[in-house]
Amino acid sequence: MTSQDSALDASGANGGTPPQVRRVLTEIPGPRSRELQERRTAAVPPGVGSVLPVYVADAGGGVVVDVDGNSLIDFGSGIAVTSVGNANPRVAARVKAQADRFTHTCFMVAPYESYVAVCENLNRVTPGAHEKRSFLVNSGAEAVENAVKIARYATGRDAVVVFDHGYHGRTLLTMTLTAKNMPYKQGFGPFAPEVYRMPLAYPFRWPTGPDNCGPEAAAQAIDQITKQIGPTNVAALLIEPIQGEGGFIEPAPGFLPALAEFCRANGILFIADEVQTGFARTGDMFACEHEGIVPDLVATAKGIAGGLPLAAVTGRADIMDKVHGGGLGGTYGGNPLACEAALAVLAEIEDGKLTERARRIGEIMLPRLRELAAAHPAIGDVRGRGAMIAIELVRPGTKDPDPDLTARVARRCHERGLLVLTTGTYGNVLRFLPPLVIPEELLVEGLDVLAEAFAEE
Ligand SMILES: *Cc1c(COP(=O)(O)O)cnc(C)c1O
Repeated sequence: MTSQDSALDASGANGGTPPQVRRVLTEIPGPRSRELQERRTAAVPPGVGSVLPVYVADAGGGVVVDVDGNSLIDFGSGIAVTSVGNANPRVAARVKAQADRFTHTCFMVAPYESYVAVCENLNRVTPGAHEKRSFLVNSGAEAVENAVKIARYATGRDAVVVFDHGYHGRTLLTMTLTAKNMPYKQGFGPFAPEVYRMPLAYPFRWPTGPDNCGPEAAAQAIDQITKQIGPTNVAALLIEPIQGEGGFIEPAPGFLPALAEFCRANGILFIADEVQTGFARTGDMFACEHEGIVPDLVATAKGIAGGLPLAAVTGRADIMDKVHGGGLGGTYGGNPLACEAALAVLAEIEDGKLTERARRIGEIMLPRLRELAAAHPAIGDVRGRGAMIAIELVRPGTKDPDPDLTARVARRCHERGLLVLTTGTYGNVLRFLPPLVIPEELLVEGLDVLAEAFAEE
C-alpha cells in the first residue's frame, strides 16, 4: 500500500475528514506533486501561480493532504474561504442532494428558493437593521464591480474613492481599484477612469506613529477628496475594513468612523469590501461591526459558501431597488449548488458559534506571536483580529520591509508541513487564516512550527 492509499483509507474511516495530524513523509513538494507540476507547466500558463505546488488529494478540518501522503496544517483556508472546513459534512450533504435535483436553471430564467433564502440570510446578518436587498454573483471581484455599478446608478455620480494597500480583484475595474502594481496591474492597462486613491491609516507605517494615525489619516483623505475630486462628484468610497492582500492592515481606530461620517454628510455611499473579512473570520460576523460601521453596500464572497463559487452584494433597499429590471445579474450568479452550500455555511457559523471560535483563535495566536516577536526583532508588527492574523517582517531596528526573510520563513514552514501564505504591498507579511474549525492542538502545533522556522535564522 502506498502512502497515498493509506491517507485516503484513513480519511474514509474518519467520516470524510482526514486525520487531524501533521505528517511529512517526503520532501515538499514530493515526487508525485512534482510530476503533476510538470504536466501543469505544459498545460497552464505561468501567470496563474500557486503558493505551494503540492497537489491536493484530500482536505478537511485543519489539514490539507497531498498526493504524496503528506498532511499539512492549514493556515490558509484557501485564502479565507473554507472557514467551516474543506469537507464540512453539512455543506457536502446539501450540495450532493442539490446535485441530484438540479444543477442549474439560471435564476434569471427560472428562479428557485435557495437563492432567495441566501439573500434573506445576508439581509439579516450584514450590519444594520435597515431594510436591505441582496443579489448573488460568482466572485469577489464581480461583487465589488456590481456594488460600484449600483452606487453610480443610485447617485448619478462617477468618482470612486479607494485606498492605499487596497485589493479588490482582477477584472478591469477591480484591478483599477486595487493599489498594488505587481503582479496585479503591470502590463494590463489602460485602466478604468474615475478611480481616486487616498492614504490609509496604516498604524505601523504612519509617519507620526500609531496614536494619532486614525484621525490624521482620515483628515488627509477627506481633504484630498474635497480638494481633488469634490465630494458632490463622488459616488462611493470603497474600503476593506481590514486590508487583506495589502497586508492585514487594521486601519487605526477612528479612521473608518470618520470616513463613514464624511460619506453620510456628503451623499457618498460607503461600500465595505468584506470579501475576505466577512463571515466570522475576524471574530465578528463582519469586520465593520468592530467600530459600529453600517455600510450602505457590502460586497461578500470568500467565506460565504465553503469554497463553492458564490458572492453577493447586499445593500440598502432604497439604493438597490433603483436599478432598472434586467440591469443586474449573470448566467451562473447564485448557482443552486453554491446556494445550498451557503445555507449550510451560515447554519454552521451560527450553530457552531464560529465568531467565538475565531476570537479564541486570535487569543491563542496573538500572545504566541508577540512572544516570538520579542525574541526576533525582524518581526516588526503583530496584528489582526480573530482568525485573520499577520506578522510584518523588517530589517531589525528599522521599518525596511524584508520580503526575502518572509519567503525563507514561509518555505521552511512549508517544508515542515505548515501551509502559510505571504502577503502585503511589500511582500513582507506572513498571514494566518486557519479554518475556524481547526483543532486547537493543530493550531498550537502550527505556531510551534513557525517558531522553529524563525529559530533557524
Ligand atoms: C479576494 C478578494 C477580492 C476578489 O475576490 P475574487 O473572488 O478573487 O474575485 C476582492 N476583495 C477582497 C478584499 C478580496 O480579498
